[in-house]
Amino acid sequence: MVTAVQVVQAYRFALDLTPVQQRAVLAHAGAARVAHNWALAQVKAIMDQRAAERSYGIADAELTPAIGWTLPALRRGWNAAKEGVAPWWRECSKEAFNTGLDALARGLKAWADSRSGKRAGRPVGFPRFKSRRHTTPSVRFTTGTIRVEPDRKHVVLPRLGRLKLHESARKLARRLDNGTAWIMSATVRRDRTRWHVSFTVEVDRAERTPARPGSTVGVDLGITHLAVLSTGEQVPNPRHLDEAQRRLRILGRRLSRRQGPDRRTGQRPSNRWQRARARLGRAHGRVANLRCDGLHQITTRLTREHGTIVVEDLHVAGMLRNRRLARRVADAGFAELRRQLAYKTEWNGGRLVVADRWYPSSKTCSGCGAVKTKLALSERTYHCSVCGLTLNRDLNAAYNLAALAADYDTAGSGPVAGRGANHKTPLAGLVAVKRQPGAAPPRIRPGPSHRKAGLPNRRSLERTER
Ligand SMILES: [Zn+2]
Repeated sequence: MVTAVQVVQAYRFALDLTPVQQRAVLAHAGAARVAHNWALAQVKAIMDQRAAERSYGIADAELTPAIGWTLPALRRGWNAAKEGVAPWWRECSKEAFNTGLDALARGLKAWADSRSGKRAGRPVGFPRFKSRRHTTPSVRFTTGTIRVEPDRKHVVLPRLGRLKLHESARKLARRLDNGTAWIMSATVRRDRTRWHVSFTVEVDRAERTPARPGSTVGVDLGITHLAVLSTGEQVPNPRHLDEAQRRLRILGRRLSRRQGPDRRTGQRPSNRWQRARARLGRAHGRVANLRCDGLHQITTRLTREHGTIVVEDLHVAGMLRNRRLARRVADAGFAELRRQLAYKTEWNGGRLVVADRWYPSSKTCSGCGAVKTKLALSERTYHCSVCGLTLNRDLNAAYNLAALAADYDTAGSGPVAGRGANHKTPLAGLVAVKRQPGAAPPRIRPGPSHRKAGLPNRRSLERTER
């Protein structure tokens, strides 16, 4: 019997909308924005009112009552006020207003959680008003008739009706037909210049195993080659952005010669400016599409083949702050590659091991384990002064990463990773330790994700390791 894993995933298809349909979607997106901005204004007004009352020394119990920030509360408020605020509300699906209110509820919650420390990561700002020009038009339907037509070239959405797809929806339709997928919602949005419909779908994925479950591959990410694998394969870096740079420059120059909008003088953009801007946008979109396609191909191939994949935990945000590196790093898409490896190993029954950020994968000799204290970026060949090993620098790093997985399994650090488990290596803080040939194996310290994962035997582990 084939067991199944239930995952939520998106199926996204390009749309061919008629001008009438485009106007209808834009009207719905506009309705979402109106509801969002109205509710945000309410929330702000009441917050200000309460702050002012407090400053007069009014007791907390007698303040203007606060309004709820949850979606149902916001929706109640909107339904009571919509006749006055938007007398045209009947023209749009209620899902449109719900889209805007839901976005606001999430934004408010993210802000509140971030302030109270419940939410990790960078601080989240207070929700801002959506502008007509700067927001991506988008509307989400969660109820009503959402279906793929039997011809698989059309979809039906509430209010918008039958929309033509630019590509066949057979992959989704097949799953819907055999009952392994349920549509939870459908979102129509304009990405750059093209309309897409994206279905959020709950899918029963058949449990699969990689072609070579026992195989481990170390992946060293870089700019010269996008990835060097411990199998010896070098995945070239396509550098789509560099490739397109000449054309982007030409289009950018053309745009700057056209009459653009000017806020101060109220100058409206000319039609030629609009066209030039659309062309530049399309050129950028093409770069993004090429990059996206390439990343999907390599991550799918790796996760289908190998049981264990080891990558470094690159500090991408930090590298992006380096202006000499930023463009190339952003073009390579390391972060996206990591993200895709994480969920695709899970889908394919493999596992992803993430080496600690400070693990010296490049400085360590893959032959004898000696660690160099210094290694310039320009040294493309690794030469070990201890055992005399000489090989390609990136390949050496890939070997080291692959070896980490074995270290991880034999170090007795708890049960061997289950399906799709995402592990940080426990080799934290090793950078200053010089490993001599034949020296004792590295000391194991539980990495941060051990704490998160809450492995049951962590305590006993710590005791034995010390
Ligand atoms: Zn060596």
